[in-house]
Amino acid sequence: MAVVEDNQENMEICKRFCGTCPTYQTNRMKESPPHALFCARGKSAIADTAENKGCNCFQCDVFKKYNLKGGFFCLHGTEGSK
Ligand code: SF4
Ligand code: SF4
Repeated sequence: MAVVEDNQENMEICKRFCGTCPTYQTNRMKESPPHALFCARGKSAIADTAENKGCNCFQCDVFKKYNLKGGFFCLHGTEGSK
């Protein structure tokens, strides 16, 4: 899997997809590090206790641009998605 750059452009795109994701909203992931852009930064600090409500990554332009696989990066990080 390609390495996603942790930059402002990717963050702005992520906000549109993670930001509207039921898993993100239900578990208030914005409030815990790394807050978003999990495909670059790794899983959420609350991943172990978070409820899985689905994933918007598959529609995301970052996902497509970097040819990512797996999704659910907030819960599982980027390992196992290669
Ligand atoms: S990584 Fe996927 S499941 Fe997690 S908040 Fe983003 S869109 Fe939702
Ligand atoms: S692939 Fe998922 S975690 Fe990565 S920028 Fe898109 S919505 Fe955010």
